[in-house]
Amino acid sequence: TPTPLTLLGLGAMGTALAGAWLAAGHPLTVWNRTAARAEGLAARGAAVAATAAEAVAANRLVVVCLLDDASVPAALDGVDLTGKDLVNLVTSTPAQARARAAWAEERGARYLDGGIMAVPPMIGVPATGAYVFYSGSSELFEEHGATLAVPAGTRYVGADAGYAALHDVALLSGMYGMFAGIAHAFALVRGEDVAPSELAPLLGGWLAAMSGSVARTAEQLESGDYTQGVVSNLAMQVAGRQTLLSTAEEQGVSAELLEPYFRLMERRLEIGGGEEDLTGVVDLLRR
Ligand code: NDP
Repeated sequence: TPTPLTLLGLGAMGTALAGAWLAAGHPLTVWNRTAARAEGLAARGAAVAATAAEAVAANRLVVVCLLDDASVPAALDGVDLTGKDLVNLVTSTPAQARARAAWAEERGARYLDGGIMAVPPMIGVPATGAYVFYSGSSELFEEHGATLAVPAGTRYVGADAGYAALHDVALLSGMYGMFAGIAHAFALVRGEDVAPSELAPLLGGWLAAMSGSVARTAEQLESGDYTQGVVSNLAMQVAGRQTLLSTAEEQGVSAELLEPYFRLMERRLEIGGGEEDLTGVVDLLRR
């Protein structure tokens, strides 16, 4: 029989999670600071608790999906967490997650931190590939893994409670670098006789083809040999960057998104990385 659980937080993400558990037949108790947001879920069979304390008391498994780390103690300070299995899906930093794990353990709970790699419409739709990184108590994850797998896939990445956040933020950071490149590419053709919708499939296809660099970078970092399998060496790429900068200038486009990366490439070249791939930039970023 489906495990009963409690969910605190019925924002966009919490509501999507609640819907998935209800659809799968899990008895669900919900609480939200603004009570009106629970009405739709009550109509679908959720039990609505009047207070966070009441919601926590209802079940051993308690999932938290509030705005940010500060909202967790705001909702739960003073609530008895003894013997609870607390799963915190709030997006946080690794240090915040570790501190929150210690906070929960001091209060007698087992703790699992989660980082959601999905937007709300992907929740409960396995075909989207949505998943959640989890880290912290492996016992909790083993015991409740099947319940946690209802709204999205699960990936346990270690006993260090900060590792879910670390993985989450690593992926999001990579994504923003890609967004920066996309913005620059569209800016270059803006005002020209090239429709954004013409460029889009070409740019999307090119980025997909270039995503192979992720695996090559990993291999080079692990071997320590940044020339391994190099396709376009750094010396050539540093020379070639001028074409990109000059084209931006010609098109009246600011190169501010590209320049910081090019500066790191130049620094690596200066210290002798000319025959390497771009992997040496990773080392320059570590403080
Ligand atoms: P929303 O802004 O839609 O909802 C925020 C929720 O937090 C509401 O339930 C709100 O209650 C509650 N809340 C805020 N402050 C407090 C407080 N001090 N005390 C009690 N409750 C509080 O956010 P989402 O649902 O979109 O996001 C929730 C978490 O999920 C965030 O950490 C977010 O980073 C993460 N996430 C969201 C994604 C998304 O695309 N939406 C994607 C991946 C992760 P009230 O209704 O009373 O305001």
